[in-house]
Amino acid sequence: MLGDNPVFVVEWHTRRILACNDAVTRVFGFNPEELLGHDTRCLHVSDTAFESFALESEALLQSEHNTYHCRYRMRRKDGSEFPSENLVQVIHDHEEGRVAVVSFVRDLSGCDSADLPGHGLGLDSAHALSMTIPGAVFRRIRDVHGNDRYTYLAGQLVDELGIDPDAAREDPSRVFNLMEPNDRQLLESAIQSTARSGSGIDLVVRFHSPSGKQYWLRIISRPTQLGDGTIVWDGLAIDITGEKQAQAHAAWLADHDRLTGLLNRAEFIAHIERALEAAHKHSQQIALARLAVRGMFKVNEKHGLPGGDALLCQIADRLDDTLPEGSIIARSHGDVFLVKLEIPDNDGGLAAGLRTLQSAFDAPFDLGDLNPAHVSASIGIARYPEDADTTDDLLRAVALAGDRAHKHPEVDYEFYDREISEAMRQRFQLEDRLRQAIAEEQLEPYYQPQISLSDGRLVGLEALVRWPQADGSLIMPGAFIPLAEEVGLSGRIGRLMLRRVAHDLHTWSANGWTTVPVAVNCSARQFRDTKLVRAYEQEVLEQGLDPGLIHLELTETSFIDNYDNAKRIMDQLNGLGVTFSIDDFGTGFSALSYLSRLPFRVLKIDRSFVAEILDEAHQRNVVQGLIQMASTIGLYIIAEGVETAEQEAELRCMGSDAAQGFYYSPALPAADIPHWHAALSKKLDGV
Ligand code: C2E
Ligand code: CA
Ligand code: CA
Repeated sequence: MLGDNPVFVVEWHTRRILACNDAVTRVFGFNPEELLGHDTRCLHVSDTAFESFALESEALLQSEHNTYHCRYRMRRKDGSEFPSENLVQVIHDHEEGRVAVVSFVRDLSGCDSADLPGHGLGLDSAHALSMTIPGAVFRRIRDVHGNDRYTYLAGQLVDELGIDPDAAREDPSRVFNLMEPNDRQLLESAIQSTARSGSGIDLVVRFHSPSGKQYWLRIISRPTQLGDGTIVWDGLAIDITGEKQAQAHAAWLADHDRLTGLLNRAEFIAHIERALEAAHKHSQQIALARLAVRGMFKVNEKHGLPGGDALLCQIADRLDDTLPEGSIIARSHGDVFLVKLEIPDNDGGLAAGLRTLQSAFDAPFDLGDLNPAHVSASIGIARYPEDADTTDDLLRAVALAGDRAHKHPEVDYEFYDREISEAMRQRFQLEDRLRQAIAEEQLEPYYQPQISLSDGRLVGLEALVRWPQADGSLIMPGAFIPLAEEVGLSGRIGRLMLRRVAHDLHTWSANGWTTVPVAVNCSARQFRDTKLVRAYEQEVLEQGLDPGLIHLELTETSFIDNYDNAKRIMDQLNGLGVTFSIDDFGTGFSALSYLSRLPFRVLKIDRSFVAEILDEAHQRNVVQGLIQMASTIGLYIIAEGVETAEQEAELRCMGSDAAQGFYYSPALPAADIPHWHAALSKKLDGV
């Protein structure tokens, strides 16, 4: 059987072996991998024999024949020699004189000269040959009418690609449909141009098998024009997928860490260089973090190096999974990782990035032991441009910060700059505590009364969040609401407030107090969050409360850049019966006409105006104008921050409907509200 014999595909001008089959091992003692890419010198008995064979075959190739055979001695890997016969099929000969050949070798030791094949390969032997090489052999013809078909198509690959040779013969597109569209275009235009020029094709194209596997094929062919005008392309498609994958893998290894699959240090540095250039151009900030595993030594001691490696891989996976897009992660060396963090536009973003880094160590690691391993990391941070403005300096700064963090087991991270380290640490701690306080529902609403200016009665309450501390003190919202906004916690605070206010309303009415509407503050970020509607439904409506009892206070920032979306959310909530106040009015830029198109019911005049109405004639006019316009579009007006009887009198005069401020009461705990109200009524009614 021909298929049991060695077959080589050799690039002629270099004599490099492009492909060979497994039979080379039996006859020559070499594994195919040992031969691929090398020239055929090692298969000849001497260098002289190799060179004279080259000359001899060169002469043969100048002749008209596409096939020839010759006999000579060859050499095995172990140095022994044997007589052989070579059948050589020329595959391609393009203008530069390059030739690829398929060379079929037969070991003649112990063979009788009677069974030697003659000149040329018959179709049967061509078929057998084609089945031994990785790829396919084809003959494509274009008849005088310009119609193409295959008259011959066979090879391992034809089966692997699931091509039905009979169908494909008549319809070459069945083969071409499996090709990557770009490559297909290339090959089709090569066929067209070689048909005209008679030159050869030597192209690498990609195929996809029906199961989705990708193949790389090198297509080598040259057209011959027959007397009647028919054009024939005899050719070979050599499967070079393995070679391509090896190349791709080699390229991948050059810039990745073998163990974890993350980028390696060199590639990370190259990334940072590019990132700094871009950051410089767009005035952006970049932060580098250097993360070193604490307790690696113990893990190695207990679990051996394989355990240590497994740990590093798990850490790499977690970092890769948790860090946001745009971050770049590398393993620098040993147990040290480098991370480029995105800093959106404030330091809050950096704190979030740091949290994410640390959260990769929250859960224990599974090292195949009964007890999962708890490890943590020390983190050093350096920032561009504050700490350094070149890649080298930045790496040096982050290494210093990282070292310092690692030496102090009590700190999780260390900034290049000490002061910043301290500020960030406090901020980070506050964020941690706030998260916990939200989870444990420690935050609670205090209520500030709103008083009608016509009769002095209670018309509503504003819920203001307070964070009670273990020592009995309260943290005021100014100390944590801005942070909550930055780190995305305001939605959770808003929901908690809705829940607590709903609960207080229930308690009040269960205790026989006639409730008044309560305004709940809704931050800009919380408002943009579509979950707000759901939160309102769950925390208020599903608790059986009248939606008229809890309304939402929005500031201008909620809709300033965001009018359409704001209107959509407001309309949706309005449809559920929710009403809105516009808070801090006058501090932003919104025109009243703009507001009149949104479903606001109440306008709250900011306390900075109220503070000045008595002293500043100009402010007084502004407020007067505001009140007049707001009244014409039917808004109910509440003045904030009223501290004195004079301010109250002035505001009443100007047409404000209600007021709120320390003059009446600061915000009080829910339980105090009914008593406060009773005292007010008593004063008004004189009983
Ligand atoms: P705001 O919505 O303008 O709330 C009014 C603030 O003015 C409250 O401060 C209140 O205690 C204070 N205030 C009331 N009357 C007077 C007065 O006569 N004079 C002076 N100088 N101040 C007065 P607080 O409670 O510290 O809240 C500050 C801000 O925090 C609020 O301003 C609001 O923007 C925000 N905030 C409060 N609670 C929440 C909440 O539950 N969610 C959200 N997103 N923000 C809240
Ligand atoms: Ca408010
Ligand atoms: Ca306000």
